[in-house]
Amino acid sequence: MKAAAYCRFSSDNQREESIDAQLRAIKEYAEKNNIEIVKVYADEAKSATTDDRPQFLQMVKDSEIGIFEAVIVHKLDRFARNRYDSAFYKRQLKKNGVIIISVLEQLDDSPESIILESVLEGMAEYYSKNLAREVMKGLKENAFNAKFNGGIPPLGYNIVEGEYHINNEEAEAIKLIFDLYAKGYGYRHIIDELNLKGYKTKNGNSFSKNSLYGILRNEKYTGKYIFNKGTKTNHRITKDDVIIIENAIPAIIDKDLFEKVQKKINERKIERGANTAKRTYLLSGLVYCGICGSKMVGCLSRGKYVTYRCNKKDRTKQCTNKDINKDSLEVFIVEELNKKIFDPEVAPILAKLLNEENQKLNKEKFEKIAALKKNYNKIESQIKNIVDAIAEGMYQPIMKEKMRELEDKKNEILYSLSEIEKKKETSFITPEIIMEIFNEDREIINSLNNPQKIKEVLKKYIKKIIVYPTEIKCEFYFWIGDDFRSLEVAASGVEPPTLRV
Ligand SMILES: [Zn+2]
Repeated sequence: MKAAAYCRFSSDNQREESIDAQLRAIKEYAEKNNIEIVKVYADEAKSATTDDRPQFLQMVKDSEIGIFEAVIVHKLDRFARNRYDSAFYKRQLKKNGVIIISVLEQLDDSPESIILESVLEGMAEYYSKNLAREVMKGLKENAFNAKFNGGIPPLGYNIVEGEYHINNEEAEAIKLIFDLYAKGYGYRHIIDELNLKGYKTKNGNSFSKNSLYGILRNEKYTGKYIFNKGTKTNHRITKDDVIIIENAIPAIIDKDLFEKVQKKINERKIERGANTAKRTYLLSGLVYCGICGSKMVGCLSRGKYVTYRCNKKDRTKQCTNKDINKDSLEVFIVEELNKKIFDPEVAPILAKLLNEENQKLNKEKFEKIAALKKNYNKIESQIKNIVDAIAEGMYQPIMKEKMRELEDKKNEILYSLSEIEKKKETSFITPEIIMEIFNEDREIINSLNNPQKIKEVLKKYIKKIIVYPTEIKCEFYFWIGDDFRSLEVAASGVEPPTLRV
């Protein structure tokens, strides 16, 4: 076995063995036990209390490169200044496959040291630089235990101490939704039934087509626990990060019913696709009825007029708003966009607005980070107090629980910090930058040869189009790079005479 020798001498302590004496004892021991000393590290400190140990730190560093498998000291108190220190560096060395041998003592395996070491093991992330990964690990551990990872729990479940429990009343609503859909009822009918029975979503809202779709597609209801799914936008998450555990949480829907519903959803999708694929409604999803507030959807009116039509009109016959001609509305909106957004005179105004908003956001971000860091330091010092108390031999079982709690809090803060820091600072925006982005998008919109692409670009700029009986109102959005801003720079347009059918 290859080993390093470590000696330390404090000149203010007359009773200590000199470095030479320590080294002699170490060499003797090594010879007797067939150990080869490959390197000697020695620190001579002026005082025992100062942290002046360049050779010691060098030794710890060298342990990473594998030139020795053990460190031999004369006495364990040479190795470190206190128990905390000792446990910390012991762990570092252990990680590098290096053990500590004392010439005069058995290895320190007193109960306090073992507790302290295990506490330190549990605090691995405390010293880790890769904080985000550690946080992810924590979330994954939660996932492996089928524990709740934050956010709003799905309808049908309550979260009790991090675990999924069925909420009986909500579960009834879930069962009703699956049953009705499997029997062939449409979303409209299911929503009416739910409203009749007084069911609400988890947020206390009425059900919508989207919320029903989300429920019908949620595999959790069969007891399957899925973590990290549905975060497709985060490209750093690999397949390995997706955890699926069958029967991990209490099931509300049996697997057969769930499968039946999935099949039905897909069938309906194909049917619908066959009917609407022929024509691209450039503004679909963006047009709202000015009378009742419903969406206006693409429609072949009276067999020949292609229009946007109030969705409520057909379903309930309650709305009196007229259809609006598809092509006329689309042309009108593109013209408005050209006039109100892509105009070179608009760019400086937008740049000014954006820069003002940026400054405000940066300031808020800075303040938030400062507050989180302050809190973080507070928790760290609380942790240190506990570690110190343990080191002094004042271990209480409750400390472990407290430590866990503090660690959780700390992870939460680190997570919040990493989330905030992800939002990159936006640099100063000039009118030229804005015009460059505009020109690209304007070309796409005015080219008219790729409807899907045009639709995508229009979505970037249009928040909402409201069609009133006598006028059209359009609220525009505004994006720069990945940053999304909502600025209502243009409001209303006068109704062009050809628009009505
Ligand atoms: Zn309407």
